Amino acid sequence: MTAEHILHRSTSARPPAAVRGEGIYVIDSDGRRYVDACGGAAVSCLGHGNRTVIDAIAEQSAKLEFVHTGFFTTDPAEELAAVIADLCPGSLDRVWFTSSGSEATEAALKLARQYHLERGDSRRSKVIARRLSYHGNTLGALAAGGSIWRRKPYEPLLIDVALADPCFKYRFAETGESAEAYGQRAADSLEREIQRLGPDTVMAFIAETVVGATAGAVPPVAGYLQRVREICNRHGVLLILDEVMCGSGRTGTFLSCEQNGVVPDIATLGKGLGGGYQPIGAVVCTKDVYDTIARGSGALKHGQTYNAHPVGCAAALAVQRVIGEEGLLNRVEVAGTRLRELMAARFGNHPNVGDIRGRGLLLALELVADRGTKAPFDPQLAMHQRAKSDAFSRGLLIYPGGGTVDGRSGDHILLAAPYNVTDNELEMIVDLLGQTLDAILPS
Ligand code: PMP
Repeated sequence: MTAEHILHRSTSARPPAAVRGEGIYVIDSDGRRYVDACGGAAVSCLGHGNRTVIDAIAEQSAKLEFVHTGFFTTDPAEELAAVIADLCPGSLDRVWFTSSGSEATEAALKLARQYHLERGDSRRSKVIARRLSYHGNTLGALAAGGSIWRRKPYEPLLIDVALADPCFKYRFAETGESAEAYGQRAADSLEREIQRLGPDTVMAFIAETVVGATAGAVPPVAGYLQRVREICNRHGVLLILDEVMCGSGRTGTFLSCEQNGVVPDIATLGKGLGGGYQPIGAVVCTKDVYDTIARGSGALKHGQTYNAHPVGCAAALAVQRVIGEEGLLNRVEVAGTRLRELMAARFGNHPNVGDIRGRGLLLALELVADRGTKAPFDPQLAMHQRAKSDAFSRGLLIYPGGGTVDGRSGDHILLAAPYNVTDNELEMIVDLLGQTLDAILPS
């Protein structure tokens, strides 16, 4: 290898070079095989090296690698939009393509602002997000997120975004409070924020349907999202659901919010949409949002060079077709149930595992110093990082997270296996993870 010029995530450590992927395995330049139990960051929904997707990419690259959306549309973009519209619930049926989840958040926020402008309501510019949430790392998306450590260095550069409470039962429900009652209480914090800001000034509320990276696979309790939907309707606030991590089938339905019977005005997608085969994200909006713009100025005042990239769209189209043809949404549900059972059997009574949670194949366990009091480990111990390193040394890839409780303390481990994971692979994941937890946890 020649001199180093790449700025890695850490300036002190160069990660091993990955050279190949095969199903659930990533293989490095020394021939070591890693079981990819997290798809990087819940990306690789079909595992690695899927022939159908690779062939679709090769075919589109050979036909037409790129055109700019200012001049042309393409078949893969039109077809992918139709597939997404078909898979999405309610009247979510217009799609804007981006190259990442963060860009989808940015576009969704601009779309929300423009929607209100086109209605002649220029006062609405304020965004409400939730504490312990993540919507991306570009400045607008970072501002609209509630991840303290990610925001801190850039705080002076961020637009003002109000933060409502998360819906995180394990941590924030009172003892004896029913899930239902807690969900209503959590949703009511949104209404308080709307009242505080002035209902006529709020343009959108943005939330992850299932919280991913910041809190570790936290699904909303029953009734919470319905109440949020009602509150948004009551105040003319658009509901943006971030399905970048939990959408595209990761929880067993195309959008995770389908399981809550709630349809947002705008949904964002990324990660599993293209399964990592190409960088692609999307914003899906309802007919009402689209029609408002069509009746008004007739154009979204936004655009980036790689919007609706033909090869990206062809890859995502192939990924979604494989999911449909192989019945993988059903497999997500079955495999998710199986993985949860295996985790419950192995870690359910572990004194340092406080909670096992999630939906479909987006699952997590939260590590605690004391199961009875739910006290987290001292953040100095960086238990989630220890877990990642130990697992890595055993050939297991997991997605760790810190700051689970309040943005500073708390540790969780996120698992996001491919939708076509086998039962044997699930057993292997839990076995290796068990070895890691035995090695790093005190009891
Ligand atoms: N939203 C959510 C819920 C995410 O998990 C992520 C990525 N972790 C993003 C947005 C941003 O996506 P990207 O990293 O592709 O910009």
